[in-house]
Amino acid sequence: MHIPFCQHKCAYCDFNSYAGLGRDEQERYVAALLAEMDLWAARPELRGEQVATVFVGGGTPTLLEGRLLARVLTGVRARFPLAPDAEVTVEANPGTVDVAGEKLHLLREAGANRISFGAQARQDHLLRRLGRIHTAAEVEEAVAAARRAGFTNISLDLMYGLPGQTPEDFRRTLEWALSLGPTHISAYSLIVEEGTPFYHEWRAGRLDLPPEDAEEAMFREGKALLEANGFEHYEVSNYARPGFKCRHNLIYWRNEHYLGLGCGAHSFLRLAAPLPNLGAPRPGLSASRVQGGSPVETAPGKPGQQYRFWNLKQPGTYQAALAQGVLPVEAGEPIDRREEMAETMFMGLRLLEGVSRRRFAGRFGQEPEEVYGPAIGRLVAQGLLEWNGEWLRLTERGLRLGNVVWAEFV
Ligand code: SF4
Repeated sequence: MHIPFCQHKCAYCDFNSYAGLGRDEQERYVAALLAEMDLWAARPELRGEQVATVFVGGGTPTLLEGRLLARVLTGVRARFPLAPDAEVTVEANPGTVDVAGEKLHLLREAGANRISFGAQARQDHLLRRLGRIHTAAEVEEAVAAARRAGFTNISLDLMYGLPGQTPEDFRRTLEWALSLGPTHISAYSLIVEEGTPFYHEWRAGRLDLPPEDAEEAMFREGKALLEANGFEHYEVSNYARPGFKCRHNLIYWRNEHYLGLGCGAHSFLRLAAPLPNLGAPRPGLSASRVQGGSPVETAPGKPGQQYRFWNLKQPGTYQAALAQGVLPVEAGEPIDRREEMAETMFMGLRLLEGVSRRRFAGRFGQEPEEVYGPAIGRLVAQGLLEWNGEWLRLTERGLRLGNVVWAEFV
Protein backbone atom coordinates (compact mmCIF):
# COMPACT_ATOMS: atom_id res chain seq x y z
CA MET A 1 0.00 0.00 0.00
CA HIS A 2 1.52 3.24 -1.12
CA ILE A 3 1.49 6.49 0.89
CA PRO A 4 2.98 9.13 -1.43
CA PHE A 5 3.80 11.92 1.04
CA CYS A 6 7.25 13.03 2.21
CA GLN A 7 8.31 16.00 4.27
CA HIS A 8 11.21 16.72 1.95
CA LYS A 9 12.46 14.99 -1.17
CA CYS A 10 15.79 13.17 -0.63
CA ALA A 11 18.57 13.89 -3.13
CA TYR A 12 18.71 10.33 -4.47
CA CYS A 13 15.00 9.52 -4.55
CA ASP A 14 12.93 8.84 -7.65
CA PHE A 15 10.05 7.14 -5.81
CA ASN A 16 6.50 8.28 -6.43
CA SER A 17 6.42 10.68 -3.49
CA TYR A 18 5.58 14.35 -3.07
CA ALA A 19 6.71 16.92 -0.52
CA GLY A 20 4.66 19.78 0.82
CA LEU A 21 1.14 18.31 0.71
CA GLY A 22 -1.11 19.39 3.57
CA ARG A 23 -3.44 17.74 6.05
CA ASP A 24 -6.54 18.06 3.83
CA GLU A 25 -4.71 16.28 1.06
CA GLN A 26 -3.81 13.48 3.47
CA GLU A 27 -7.44 13.10 4.58
CA ARG A 28 -8.58 12.94 0.95
CA TYR A 29 -5.91 10.42 0.08
CA VAL A 30 -6.80 8.08 2.94
CA ALA A 31 -10.50 8.31 1.97
CA ALA A 32 -9.50 7.34 -1.59
CA LEU A 33 -7.46 4.38 -0.32
CA LEU A 34 -10.47 3.13 1.64
CA ALA A 35 -12.67 3.57 -1.45
CA GLU A 36 -10.17 1.53 -3.47
CA MET A 37 -10.26 -1.20 -0.81
CA ASP A 38 -14.08 -1.22 -1.03
CA LEU A 39 -13.96 -1.77 -4.79
CA TRP A 40 -11.48 -4.63 -4.46
CA ALA A 41 -13.40 -6.23 -1.60
CA ALA A 42 -16.48 -6.36 -3.87
CA ARG A 43 -14.58 -8.17 -6.65
CA PRO A 44 -14.12 -11.92 -6.99
CA GLU A 45 -10.29 -12.09 -7.03
CA LEU A 46 -9.67 -11.97 -3.29
CA ARG A 47 -12.82 -13.80 -2.24
CA GLY A 48 -11.99 -16.74 -0.02
CA GLU A 49 -8.32 -15.69 0.22
CA GLN A 50 -6.59 -14.89 3.48
CA VAL A 51 -4.20 -11.97 3.41
CA ALA A 52 -0.83 -13.20 4.67
CA THR A 53 1.03 -9.87 4.73
CA VAL A 54 0.29 -6.15 4.61
CA PHE A 55 3.00 -3.59 3.84
CA VAL A 56 2.38 0.13 4.17
CA GLY A 57 5.22 1.86 2.33
CA GLY A 58 5.95 5.08 0.58
CA GLY A 59 6.80 7.81 0.59
CA THR A 60 6.67 8.28 4.32
CA PRO A 61 3.64 6.55 5.85
CA THR A 62 4.51 7.96 9.27
CA LEU A 63 4.08 11.49 7.92
CA LEU A 64 0.35 10.78 8.16
CA GLU A 65 -1.30 11.60 11.44
CA GLY A 66 -1.50 8.54 13.67
CA ARG A 67 -5.31 8.38 13.46
CA LEU A 68 -5.14 8.37 9.63
CA LEU A 69 -2.55 5.61 9.56
CA ALA A 70 -4.62 3.61 12.02
CA ARG A 71 -7.67 4.17 9.78
CA VAL A 72 -5.76 2.66 6.86
CA LEU A 73 -4.78 -0.44 8.84
CA THR A 74 -8.17 -1.01 10.43
CA GLY A 75 -9.67 -0.38 6.98
CA VAL A 76 -7.73 -3.33 5.58
CA ARG A 77 -8.75 -5.54 8.46
CA ALA A 78 -12.43 -4.58 8.12
CA ARG A 79 -12.55 -5.48 4.41
CA PHE A 80 -10.20 -8.44 3.93
CA PRO A 81 -9.72 -11.54 6.07
CA LEU A 82 -6.22 -11.32 7.54
CA ALA A 83 -4.43 -14.53 8.47
CA PRO A 84 -4.15 -14.82 12.28
CA ASP A 85 -0.36 -14.60 11.99
CA ALA A 86 -0.35 -11.93 9.26
CA GLU A 87 2.83 -9.84 9.03
CA VAL A 88 1.78 -6.16 9.06
CA THR A 89 4.66 -3.78 8.32
CA VAL A 90 4.72 0.01 8.36
CA GLU A 91 7.67 1.91 6.91
CA ALA A 92 8.75 4.80 9.09
CA ASN A 93 11.03 7.76 8.72
CA PRO A 94 12.74 8.35 12.09
CA GLY A 95 12.22 12.10 11.64
CA THR A 96 8.44 11.68 11.66
CA VAL A 97 8.02 9.50 14.75
CA ASP A 98 7.11 11.36 17.94
CA VAL A 99 9.30 10.30 20.83
CA ALA A 100 6.28 10.12 23.14
CA GLY A 101 5.30 7.27 20.83
CA GLU A 102 1.62 8.16 20.45
CA LYS A 103 1.64 7.39 16.73
CA LEU A 104 3.50 4.15 17.34
CA HIS A 105 0.98 3.06 19.99
CA LEU A 106 -1.88 3.78 17.56
CA LEU A 107 -0.13 1.68 14.94
CA ARG A 108 0.29 -1.22 17.33
CA GLU A 109 -3.36 -0.99 18.39
CA ALA A 110 -4.37 -1.01 14.71
CA GLY A 111 -2.48 -4.28 14.21
CA ALA A 112 0.98 -3.29 12.94
CA ASN A 113 3.50 -5.85 14.18
CA ARG A 114 6.59 -4.92 12.16
CA ILE A 115 8.22 -1.53 11.64
CA SER A 116 10.88 -0.67 9.10
CA PHE A 117 12.95 2.45 9.74
CA GLY A 118 14.91 4.24 7.02
CA ALA A 119 18.07 4.77 9.11
CA GLN A 120 20.58 4.89 6.20
CA ALA A 121 23.79 6.00 7.96
CA ARG A 122 25.40 6.60 11.36
CA GLN A 123 27.10 9.82 10.24
CA ASP A 124 24.99 12.98 10.32
CA HIS A 125 27.05 14.59 7.55
CA LEU A 126 26.10 11.68 5.27
CA LEU A 127 22.44 11.93 6.27
CA ARG A 128 22.53 15.64 5.41
CA ARG A 129 24.24 14.89 2.10
CA LEU A 130 21.41 12.45 1.28
CA GLY A 131 18.83 15.08 2.15
CA ARG A 132 17.41 12.97 4.97
CA ILE A 133 15.32 14.87 7.52
CA HIS A 134 16.65 13.03 10.59
CA THR A 135 19.87 12.59 12.56
CA ALA A 136 21.41 9.35 13.83
CA ALA A 137 20.32 10.31 17.37
CA GLU A 138 16.73 10.52 16.12
CA VAL A 139 17.04 7.01 14.68
CA GLU A 140 18.10 5.79 18.13
CA GLU A 141 15.17 7.59 19.76
CA ALA A 142 12.69 6.27 17.20
CA VAL A 143 13.85 2.67 17.64
CA ALA A 144 13.62 3.00 21.44
CA ALA A 145 10.12 4.52 21.12
CA ALA A 146 9.03 1.67 18.82
CA ARG A 147 10.23 -0.83 21.38
CA ARG A 148 8.36 0.97 24.17
CA ALA A 149 5.23 0.86 22.02
CA GLY A 150 5.57 -2.93 21.83
CA PHE A 151 7.28 -3.50 18.45
CA THR A 152 9.64 -6.45 18.69
CA ASN A 153 10.12 -6.95 14.94
CA ILE A 154 12.17 -3.95 13.83
CA SER A 155 13.96 -3.56 10.52
CA LEU A 156 16.56 -0.94 9.59
CA ASP A 157 17.37 0.23 6.06
CA LEU A 158 21.00 1.23 5.49
CA MET A 159 22.82 2.55 2.44
CA TYR A 160 26.35 2.20 1.12
CA GLY A 161 28.29 3.54 -1.82
CA LEU A 162 27.29 7.05 -0.77
CA PRO A 163 29.10 10.24 -1.83
CA GLY A 164 31.87 10.89 0.65
CA GLN A 165 31.36 7.56 2.47
CA THR A 166 34.35 5.38 3.35
CA PRO A 167 34.37 1.64 4.14
CA GLU A 168 35.16 2.66 7.73
CA ASP A 169 31.99 4.86 7.79
CA PHE A 170 29.91 1.92 6.63
CA ARG A 171 31.47 -0.45 9.15
CA ARG A 172 30.59 2.02 11.92
CA THR A 173 27.07 2.33 10.54
CA LEU A 174 26.63 -1.44 10.68
CA GLU A 175 28.04 -1.70 14.22
CA TRP A 176 25.72 1.08 15.32
CA ALA A 177 22.75 -0.56 13.61
CA LEU A 178 23.56 -3.86 15.33
CA SER A 179 23.74 -2.08 18.68
CA LEU A 180 20.09 -1.02 18.19
CA GLY A 181 19.01 -4.67 18.20
CA PRO A 182 17.03 -4.99 14.95
CA THR A 183 15.62 -8.29 13.70
CA HIS A 184 16.23 -7.38 10.06
CA ILE A 185 18.67 -5.17 8.13
CA SER A 186 18.45 -4.09 4.49
CA ALA A 187 21.68 -2.71 3.03
CA TYR A 188 21.21 -1.06 -0.35
CA SER A 189 23.92 0.34 -2.58
CA LEU A 190 23.15 3.81 -3.87
CA ILE A 191 21.77 3.84 -7.40
CA VAL A 192 21.99 7.23 -9.10
CA GLU A 193 18.54 7.55 -10.70
CA GLU A 194 17.89 9.79 -13.65
CA GLY A 195 16.19 13.08 -12.82
CA THR A 196 17.28 13.20 -9.18
CA PRO A 197 19.54 15.95 -7.74
CA PHE A 198 22.29 13.30 -7.40
CA TYR A 199 21.94 12.52 -11.09
CA HIS A 200 22.51 16.18 -12.01
CA GLU A 201 25.55 16.34 -9.72
CA TRP A 202 26.87 13.14 -11.28
CA ARG A 203 26.40 14.52 -14.82
CA ALA A 204 28.28 17.64 -13.76
CA GLY A 205 31.10 15.50 -12.30
CA ARG A 206 30.41 16.75 -8.77
CA LEU A 207 29.16 13.55 -7.12
CA ASP A 208 32.05 12.18 -5.06
CA LEU A 209 31.06 8.50 -5.20
CA PRO A 210 33.46 6.01 -3.59
CA PRO A 211 35.56 4.02 -6.08
CA GLU A 212 34.20 0.63 -7.15
CA ASP A 213 36.67 -1.36 -5.02
CA ALA A 214 35.67 0.63 -1.91
CA GLU A 215 31.98 -0.09 -2.57
CA GLU A 216 32.83 -3.74 -3.13
CA ALA A 217 34.68 -3.76 0.23
CA MET A 218 31.62 -2.25 1.95
CA PHE A 219 29.43 -5.04 0.60
CA ARG A 220 31.92 -7.80 1.46
CA GLU A 221 32.81 -6.58 4.93
CA GLY A 222 29.19 -5.72 5.69
CA LYS A 223 28.09 -9.23 4.81
CA ALA A 224 30.85 -10.74 6.97
CA LEU A 225 30.01 -8.53 9.95
CA LEU A 226 26.26 -9.16 9.80
CA GLU A 227 26.72 -12.91 9.39
CA ALA A 228 29.16 -12.98 12.31
CA ASN A 229 26.42 -11.33 14.38
CA GLY A 230 23.80 -13.97 13.68
CA PHE A 231 22.10 -12.48 10.61
CA GLU A 232 21.35 -14.68 7.63
CA HIS A 233 22.08 -13.10 4.27
CA TYR A 234 18.92 -14.25 2.46
CA GLU A 235 18.52 -11.81 -0.43
CA VAL A 236 21.09 -9.74 -2.30
CA SER A 237 20.42 -6.69 -0.09
CA ASN A 238 18.67 -8.25 2.90
CA TYR A 239 19.72 -9.88 6.18
CA ALA A 240 17.56 -11.34 8.94
CA ARG A 241 17.83 -12.96 12.32
CA PRO A 242 16.40 -16.52 12.31
CA GLY A 243 12.63 -16.37 11.83
CA PHE A 244 12.57 -12.71 10.75
CA LYS A 245 12.87 -12.69 6.95
CA CYS A 246 10.48 -10.16 5.46
CA ARG A 247 7.56 -12.37 4.48
CA HIS A 248 6.02 -9.63 2.37
CA ASN A 249 9.07 -9.18 0.16
CA LEU A 250 9.46 -12.95 -0.13
CA ILE A 251 6.13 -12.87 -2.01
CA TYR A 252 7.72 -10.60 -4.67
CA TRP A 253 10.91 -12.65 -4.90
CA ARG A 254 8.96 -15.90 -5.21
CA ASN A 255 6.81 -14.26 -7.90
CA GLU A 256 3.56 -14.87 -6.07
CA HIS A 257 0.37 -12.81 -6.36
CA TYR A 258 -0.16 -9.50 -4.58
CA LEU A 259 -2.47 -6.51 -4.72
CA GLY A 260 -1.04 -2.99 -4.64
CA LEU A 261 -3.22 -0.14 -3.34
CA GLY A 262 -2.58 3.58 -3.66
CA CYS A 263 -1.31 5.86 -6.42
CA GLY A 264 1.25 4.22 -8.69
CA ALA A 265 0.96 0.88 -6.86
CA HIS A 266 1.69 -2.27 -8.90
CA SER A 267 -0.18 -5.57 -8.66
CA PHE A 268 0.24 -9.13 -9.92
CA LEU A 269 -3.05 -10.99 -9.84
CA ARG A 270 -5.20 -13.45 -11.67
CA LEU A 271 -8.18 -11.41 -12.81
CA ALA A 272 -11.57 -13.02 -13.03
CA ALA A 273 -13.57 -9.97 -14.17
CA PRO A 274 -12.86 -6.94 -16.40
CA LEU A 275 -10.75 -4.08 -15.07
CA PRO A 276 -10.78 -0.51 -16.41
CA ASN A 277 -8.04 -0.08 -19.04
CA LEU A 278 -7.38 -3.82 -19.21
CA GLY A 279 -10.67 -5.15 -20.54
CA ALA A 280 -12.04 -8.59 -19.86
CA PRO A 281 -9.72 -11.49 -19.09
CA ARG A 282 -10.11 -14.27 -21.59
CA PRO A 283 -11.61 -17.54 -20.42
CA GLY A 284 -9.11 -19.93 -18.88
CA LEU A 285 -7.28 -22.63 -20.78
CA SER A 286 -5.75 -25.65 -19.14
CA ALA A 287 -1.98 -25.49 -18.68
CA SER A 288 -1.57 -28.60 -20.83
CA ARG A 289 -2.87 -26.66 -23.83
CA VAL A 290 -0.34 -23.89 -23.54
CA GLN A 291 3.03 -25.67 -23.45
CA GLY A 292 5.48 -23.44 -25.26
CA GLY A 293 4.02 -20.19 -24.10
CA SER A 294 0.66 -19.26 -25.49
CA PRO A 295 -0.37 -15.67 -24.74
CA VAL A 296 -3.28 -17.01 -22.70
CA GLU A 297 -2.49 -19.05 -19.65
CA THR A 298 -4.21 -20.18 -16.52
CA ALA A 299 -3.65 -23.01 -14.12
CA PRO A 300 -6.11 -25.86 -14.54
CA GLY A 301 -9.36 -25.17 -12.76
CA LYS A 302 -8.55 -21.50 -12.11
CA PRO A 303 -10.56 -19.08 -14.21
CA GLY A 304 -9.19 -15.82 -15.53
CA GLN A 305 -5.85 -14.54 -16.66
CA GLN A 306 -2.79 -13.24 -14.84
CA TYR A 307 -1.91 -9.58 -15.20
CA ARG A 308 0.65 -7.18 -13.96
CA PHE A 309 -1.05 -3.80 -13.72
CA TRP A 310 -0.44 -0.48 -12.12
CA ASN A 311 -2.43 2.42 -10.75
CA LEU A 312 -2.47 6.04 -11.90
CA LYS A 313 0.67 7.67 -10.58
CA GLN A 314 -0.45 11.14 -9.49
CA PRO A 315 -2.44 11.37 -6.24
CA GLY A 316 -4.90 13.78 -7.94
CA THR A 317 -5.80 11.54 -10.90
CA TYR A 318 -5.85 8.48 -8.63
CA GLN A 319 -8.35 10.19 -6.34
CA ALA A 320 -10.42 11.49 -9.28
CA ALA A 321 -10.90 7.95 -10.63
CA LEU A 322 -12.06 6.72 -7.25
CA ALA A 323 -14.41 9.68 -6.87
CA GLN A 324 -16.16 8.32 -9.97
CA GLY A 325 -16.35 4.87 -8.43
CA VAL A 326 -13.84 3.15 -10.72
CA LEU A 327 -10.62 1.37 -9.89
CA PRO A 328 -7.72 3.73 -10.64
CA VAL A 329 -5.83 1.32 -12.90
CA GLU A 330 -3.69 3.08 -15.49
CA ALA A 331 -2.56 0.09 -17.57
CA GLY A 332 -1.20 -3.43 -17.39
CA GLU A 333 -0.14 -6.45 -19.34
CA PRO A 334 -1.18 -10.09 -19.36
CA ILE A 335 1.55 -12.38 -18.06
CA ASP A 336 1.84 -15.53 -20.08
CA ARG A 337 3.54 -18.71 -19.00
CA ARG A 338 6.90 -17.81 -20.59
CA GLU A 339 7.00 -14.47 -18.81
CA GLU A 340 5.95 -16.02 -15.54
CA MET A 341 8.78 -18.56 -15.83
CA ALA A 342 11.33 -15.86 -16.67
CA GLU A 343 10.18 -13.68 -13.76
CA THR A 344 10.27 -16.66 -11.40
CA MET A 345 13.90 -17.21 -12.41
CA PHE A 346 15.22 -13.69 -12.18
CA MET A 347 13.30 -12.76 -9.06
CA GLY A 348 14.05 -16.10 -7.38
CA LEU A 349 17.77 -15.80 -8.11
CA ARG A 350 17.86 -12.66 -5.96
CA LEU A 351 17.32 -14.99 -3.01
CA LEU A 352 20.47 -16.69 -1.74
CA GLU A 353 18.61 -19.98 -1.42
CA GLY A 354 17.94 -19.65 -5.17
CA VAL A 355 15.29 -21.37 -7.28
CA SER A 356 14.09 -24.84 -6.34
CA ARG A 357 14.06 -27.30 -9.22
CA ARG A 358 11.14 -29.17 -7.64
CA ARG A 359 9.01 -26.07 -6.97
CA PHE A 360 9.67 -24.74 -10.46
CA ALA A 361 8.64 -28.06 -12.00
CA GLY A 362 5.57 -28.21 -9.76
CA ARG A 363 4.50 -24.76 -10.95
CA PHE A 364 5.30 -25.05 -14.66
CA GLY A 365 5.52 -28.77 -15.47
CA GLN A 366 9.12 -28.36 -16.68
CA GLU A 367 12.45 -28.16 -14.84
CA PRO A 368 14.56 -24.99 -15.13
CA GLU A 369 17.15 -26.78 -17.33
CA GLU A 370 14.49 -27.88 -19.79
CA VAL A 371 13.55 -24.24 -20.37
CA TYR A 372 16.84 -22.41 -19.74
CA GLY A 373 19.47 -25.13 -20.25
CA PRO A 374 21.92 -23.09 -22.39
CA ALA A 375 21.69 -19.95 -20.20
CA ILE A 376 22.13 -21.93 -16.98
CA GLY A 377 25.06 -23.84 -18.53
CA ARG A 378 26.76 -20.58 -19.52
CA LEU A 379 26.29 -18.98 -16.10
CA VAL A 380 27.52 -22.09 -14.27
CA ALA A 381 30.59 -22.19 -16.55
CA GLN A 382 31.27 -18.52 -15.75
CA GLY A 383 31.13 -19.29 -12.03
CA LEU A 384 28.05 -17.09 -11.50
CA LEU A 385 25.50 -19.82 -10.71
CA GLU A 386 25.80 -23.19 -8.98
CA TRP A 387 23.60 -26.13 -8.05
CA ASN A 388 23.23 -26.78 -4.34
CA GLY A 389 21.29 -30.00 -4.26
CA GLU A 390 18.04 -29.16 -5.92
CA TRP A 391 18.54 -25.40 -5.64
CA LEU A 392 20.03 -23.26 -8.40
CA ARG A 393 21.63 -20.25 -6.75
CA LEU A 394 24.10 -17.40 -7.13
CA THR A 395 27.75 -18.06 -6.28
CA GLU A 396 29.76 -15.49 -4.29
CA ARG A 397 30.89 -14.05 -7.63
CA GLY A 398 27.33 -14.13 -8.99
CA LEU A 399 26.20 -12.15 -5.97
CA ARG A 400 28.29 -9.17 -7.10
CA LEU A 401 27.42 -9.62 -10.79
CA GLY A 402 23.71 -10.25 -10.30
CA ASN A 403 22.76 -8.02 -13.25
CA VAL A 404 24.65 -10.30 -15.64
CA VAL A 405 22.74 -13.30 -14.26
CA TRP A 406 19.28 -11.72 -14.20
CA ALA A 407 19.67 -10.32 -17.72
CA GLU A 408 19.88 -13.90 -19.08
CA PHE A 409 16.29 -14.52 -18.01
CA VAL A 410 14.62 -11.22 -18.89
S1 SF4 B 1 11.90 9.60 2.67
FE1 SF4 B 1 12.04 7.87 1.22
S2 SF4 B 1 10.38 8.16 -0.26
FE2 SF4 B 1 10.64 10.10 0.85
S3 SF4 B 1 12.00 11.31 -0.44
FE3 SF4 B 1 13.31 10.24 1.04
S4 SF4 B 1 13.89 8.31 0.04
FE4 SF4 B 1 12.17 9.18 -1.12
